[in-house]
Amino acid sequence: MAAKLEKRLTNKMKAPIVELSDCIVCGVCVETCPQVFRLNDTGYIEVVDLAVYPEPEVNDAIKYCPVDCIHWDS
Ligand code: SF4
Repeated sequence: MAAKLEKRLTNKMKAPIVELSDCIVCGVCVETCPQVFRLNDTGYIEVVDLAVYPEPEVNDAIKYCPVDCIHWDS
């Protein structure tokens, strides 16, 4: 029971991070997973604040990012 609760809390904390210093703003993550990644007004990619992130779509964005600058934080 405690392990299940701990797993749920851990999953909820998991969020994608974009290393902006490496990002080349190619837009692949926005095309792949627009519910999570967006181009903000200052021209940088940002991660939308969500309680739970769609793991398969974020994993696709991680896979297709040409400079590998997206990763999970937890
Ligand atoms: S796919 Fe990677 S390099 Fe391209 S905009 Fe997204 S984070 Fe930046």
